[in-house]
Amino acid sequence: LNLLLLVHKTPTALSLETLMDSTTATAELGWTVYPVSGTSDNSWEEVSGYDENMNTIRTYQVCNVFDSNQNNWVRTKYIRRRGAQRIHVEMKFSVRDCSSIPNVPGSCKETFNLYYYESDSDTANRNSPPWMENPWIKVDTIAADESFSQVDLGGRVMKINTEVRSFGPVSKNGFYLAFQDYGGCMSLIAVRVFYRKCPRIITNGALFQETLSGAESTSLVAARGVCIPNAEEVDVPIKLYCNGDGEWMVPIGRCMCKAGNEAVENGTVCRACPSGFFKSTQGDQLCLQCPINSRTTSEGAINCVCRNGYYRTDSDPLQMPCTTVPSAPQAVISSVNETSVMLEWMSPRDSGGREDVVYNIICKSCGGGRGGCTRCGDNVQFVPRQLGLTESRVYISDLLAHTQYTFEVQAVNGVSDQSPYSPQYASVNITTNQAAPSTVSIMHQVSRSVDSITLSWSQPDQPNGVILDYELQYYEKDLSEHNASTIRSQTNTVVIRGLKPGSIYVFQVRARTVAGFGRYSGKLYFQTMTEEEYNTSIQEKLPLIIGSAAAGLVFLIALVVIIIVCNRRRGFDRHDSEYTDKLQHYTSGHMTPGMKIYIDPFTYEDPNEAVREFAKEIDISCVKIEQVIGAGEFGEVCSGNLKLPGKREMFVAIKTLKSGYTEKQRRDFLSEASIMGQFDHPNVIHLEGVVTKSSPVMIITEFMENGSLDTFLRQNDGQFTVIQLVGMLRGIASGMKYLADMNYVHRDLAARNILVNSNLVCKVSDFGLSRFLEDDTSDPTYTSALGGKIPIRWTAPEAIQYRKFTSASDVWSYGIVMWEVMSYGERPYWDMTNQDVINAIEQDYRLPPPMDCPSALHQLMLDCWQKDRNNRPKFSQIVNNLDKMIRNPNTLKAMTPLSSGVHLPLLDRSIPDFSTFSSVDEWLDAIKMGQYKDNFANSDFSTFDVVSQMTMEDILRVGVTLAGHQKKILNSIQMMRAQMNQIQSVEV
Ligand code: AMP
Repeated sequence: LNLLLLVHKTPTALSLETLMDSTTATAELGWTVYPVSGTSDNSWEEVSGYDENMNTIRTYQVCNVFDSNQNNWVRTKYIRRRGAQRIHVEMKFSVRDCSSIPNVPGSCKETFNLYYYESDSDTANRNSPPWMENPWIKVDTIAADESFSQVDLGGRVMKINTEVRSFGPVSKNGFYLAFQDYGGCMSLIAVRVFYRKCPRIITNGALFQETLSGAESTSLVAARGVCIPNAEEVDVPIKLYCNGDGEWMVPIGRCMCKAGNEAVENGTVCRACPSGFFKSTQGDQLCLQCPINSRTTSEGAINCVCRNGYYRTDSDPLQMPCTTVPSAPQAVISSVNETSVMLEWMSPRDSGGREDVVYNIICKSCGGGRGGCTRCGDNVQFVPRQLGLTESRVYISDLLAHTQYTFEVQAVNGVSDQSPYSPQYASVNITTNQAAPSTVSIMHQVSRSVDSITLSWSQPDQPNGVILDYELQYYEKDLSEHNASTIRSQTNTVVIRGLKPGSIYVFQVRARTVAGFGRYSGKLYFQTMTEEEYNTSIQEKLPLIIGSAAAGLVFLIALVVIIIVCNRRRGFDRHDSEYTDKLQHYTSGHMTPGMKIYIDPFTYEDPNEAVREFAKEIDISCVKIEQVIGAGEFGEVCSGNLKLPGKREMFVAIKTLKSGYTEKQRRDFLSEASIMGQFDHPNVIHLEGVVTKSSPVMIITEFMENGSLDTFLRQNDGQFTVIQLVGMLRGIASGMKYLADMNYVHRDLAARNILVNSNLVCKVSDFGLSRFLEDDTSDPTYTSALGGKIPIRWTAPEAIQYRKFTSASDVWSYGIVMWEVMSYGERPYWDMTNQDVINAIEQDYRLPPPMDCPSALHQLMLDCWQKDRNNRPKFSQIVNNLDKMIRNPNTLKAMTPLSSGVHLPLLDRSIPDFSTFSSVDEWLDAIKMGQYKDNFANSDFSTFDVVSQMTMEDILRVGVTLAGHQKKILNSIQMMRAQMNQIQSVEV
C-alpha cells in the first residue's frame, strides 16, 4: 500500500519531554518484527513516506486480511526512562475499513494492541522477550476513530487517527513498546513516546524548579517554591502541585516584594524603589514618590525622611507631606475690663502645613517695681483654658488691679515639640484697671449666744488693693432684705449683738478698698440660741463637779461659782456654749496672717456646700474599684485606681456609703471629706476627692499600703529599730502639729486611726464625726458619755469629765499612741475596765514603759499625761523633742529602771505575776515562750529560784538565739525578781 501521508506534527508543549520520536529518524527505524519478514506471511514492514513538509519519515505497515490466524508484532528499540514515572505514547495511524475490501473474510480486524516490557538494559533479541502477553504487559487495544474506505481520484487519501495512551508506574531503566496486529490492514505512521513534567516557573513571587509528574494520571506532586530575591513569604510557606498533565496547580501561600522593593516584569522581579520613591510595607503595591518636603537617602527606601526644619508626628501617614511649625499668630487685640482682659487674634500666616494649630497663652506680670517680668501665679483664670486653645480668643480674669501684664499668644501644632526652637508668638501688653475686691467666699460662725452671733470670714481671694474694711449686712430670715442692718468691721471678725433668741438671721459680707465695695457674698444663715439651749449648756457642766468625787459642800461652792461666772457673762456674750464645744474652738483675732484655719462643715447651713467647697468632685468613670480591704463606719473600704485626666494613674483607697442611707448619714459620711479636704500635709491622709453625683457615694483618698498602725505593729512585733519607731512617732506628731495649728481638734487620736504607707510614713486619718454621736453603741472602744461617745483609754481626763476637747487633750492621746507604738500594738491598760482606767488615772497612775522603751520616750509619754493640760507639751515641742532624739540616738540608749519614783507606773500586765504559776513550764507558757520548756528543763532551770538568777549568758546557753525572745525572757525574769522583792518586803 503506497500511502501518501499527510502528517501534522503536534505542537510540542513545554510540559512534555520526548523519549523517542519515530518521525525524527533519519535512517531506518530498524524495529524488530515477528514473524520475520519474508517467511510464510508478511508481517509488519518498514516503509518510507513523507510528511507535510516533504521530509521523509519511516512507517510500519501490515495488511494480511485474507489470511487467518495472524499474529504480527513489531517491537521498538530500547527506550530509556530518564526518571519518568508515567509514560505517554502518542500513535498516529490509519486503518483500512474491512467492509471496504471486497470479499474479505470475517477474520478481518480494524484494531491492534499496544504492549510494553520493562528492562534495566537493552537485552532483547529476536526471540526474547517471547512474543506474547505476559511477559509483555498490554496497555490497550487501539481502535481507529475513523477507518478509511473511500479512495479519491488523485490517489488514496487516508484518514489519520491519533491516539494517546499512558502507563505507569515504571521503575526500571528503560522499556520496549510492541504493536500487535492480528489480521488488519493498517499503517503505523508515527510513534512518539514522552513523559510529562511541570516546567521551572516563577509565579506568585517564587521560583519553582522543574518537577516531573507523578506515576498516576491523578497524582499531585508537591513542590516548595523559593521567594525571588527581595521578596518574602506571606503567612505560610509557598507551594505548588504538579499534576499528571504537567500543569502547576493549587498554589498555597505567596511571596511578596519586601518594603523598599516593588514587583516588576510581570511579578518575576522585586526591584528596589528608585531614589525619590519609597515603599513602606511588604506587598504588591508600587513605590510611591516621596511626599513634599521629604527625600530619600538611598535606593530601596522604606520611607522618606523630612527635610531640615520639617517634621512628621507619629500618627502622620508616610505619604503625607512633612510639615513645620506655624508662624506667629497675627493681630492680637486686647480689651481690658477692670482686672480681666479679652484677647483675640488671627490665625498664623503659615500653619506649617498642618490643621492642628492650637494656641497657648503665657502670662507675665511686669513692672512690680523692679522692671522685670515674672510668670503669673496659678490664681489667674483662663476661659476656656490657658493651653491648647482651639479658638483664637481667650478671656483672662482674676488679674491684679493696676498691674502691667504681657501676654504671649503662642501658636503650636502637632510638630512644635519636635522643633528645637520655642514656638513663635505674638505678644500684647496691657495694664489692668482699678477694681473692687472680689467676694468673700468663706464665712462661718465662731460662737453664739441667745442674743448675739460671732462671725468670721476669710479675705477675698482678689483683694485688688488694701482692704479698708468689711461691711456685714444681716436681717431676720423671715423679714425682707429692706429691713437689713449693716455693721462695719476693720477685721474679718465681728460680733453681732442685740439679736432675738432662737431666731435665724441672714448674713452677707463685702470688702471695701479705695476702688469701692466688692460684691456681697452669698447668703449664710445662723441661728441664735434659745433659752432652753442655753440652760442645758449650763447643766452640762454639772456632772464634772459631781464626778469629781467631792461631796455636797464642794458641789455647792462650785455651783455658786459657776452661776456667778455665768451671770457675769449673761447678756454680754455667753459663747461658752455646748455649740462652741461641738464647733472646733476658734480663736480669731490673734492668728498669724495667712494662716489657714479649719472650718467645721457643720457651721454651714447646707453641709453639701462644705463638700462642694473643700472636696473635689470626681467623675465615677475615673475610678476603678479593685478589691474590698476593710469595713468602714458607713460601708466597705476598697482599694482601686484613680485616673484623672492629664494625671498619672494612682492607687487609691475608696470609702463607700452603703445603699439605703438616710440624708443625715450621707451628710455625716461626707463631712469627713469636707474636713480632710481642708488639710494638706505629708502626715495627714490626703483627700483625692469625692463621688457624689453617682451611686454609691465615695470618698477617695491616697492609698496606704500597710493599713492601720495598730494592726501593722502587731503583725510586725519586734521587727523595727527604736529609731524607726521614733521616726513613725515623729511623723504622727508632725501631722498633729499641723492639725493643731489649724485649730483642728482630732478627739480620736489612736494607733487604729493612723495609716501607714509602704515607706512606713504614718498619716493621721479618721476625721469622721459620727462615732461621737450617742445613738451608736456598736463599738465598745467608744463609751457613751453625756454629749457624745468617748474612747476612754485614749482620752484626757478633762475631756472625759467635761468634754474639754482641745489640742492639749489630743496631746494626751498622742502619749497613748506613743505607748501603743513602743509596745507594738499592745492594748493600753490591757484588760482593765474603763472604770478602772478612769480611777487609776485619777489616782495618778500612768502606763509603765513598754519593754525596751528608752526612758526619754517614756518621759515624753508621762509629759503628755500631765493632769493639768497646760503643763503638757505642745505638738511643736514634741516634734522638736523627737527630732533631737533622732539626731542623737545615744539619748535613746537609756532604759527606764523597773520602778520609777515620781510617777507611779502601773504594773506591766503583759508580764504576768510568776507567783500565780506552779511551775516554770506554766510560767514560760504564760509569757508565750513555751517552746523553750525543754531547753530550760534540760539545763536544770526548773525552779523559780534558779530562773530568777539567770543572766543573759544563761539564756543564750539554754539555746534561746532569737534577740526578741532573749529580751522577752530577760524582762520577765527581771519582773520576777521585782515581784519576789515585793513579796519579801511584805513578808518582812
Ligand atoms: P475607716 O473607716 O477609716 O476606719 O477605715 C476602715 C479600714 O479601712 C481601716 O482600718 C484601714 O484598714 C482601711 N483603710 C481606710 N483608709 C485607708 C487608706 N487610705 N489606705 C489603706 N487602707 C485604708
